[in-house]
Amino acid sequence: MFEIVGRLCCPLCSNPVQPDEKVFLDIINTVIHQKYYYKSPRRKLPIKDEGPFQKMLLKYLFFQ
Ligand SMILES: [Zn+2]
Repeated sequence: MFEIVGRLCCPLCSNPVQPDEKVFLDIINTVIHQKYYYKSPRRKLPIKDEGPFQKMLLKYLFFQ
């Protein structure tokens, strides 16, 4: 199990990101819920990947 699960919070809604939730990963490796990304009026960085958080955990070693 990844220790980061339940501790990593989305900057837009401040809730922990769950493994089965769809997220965007931006160019500075911020994990953001997809559902809030478009709603938020905040300026955002370009996205480099998208998909379930679980996929990011497995794909990017910096989460481990
Ligand atoms: Zn969120």
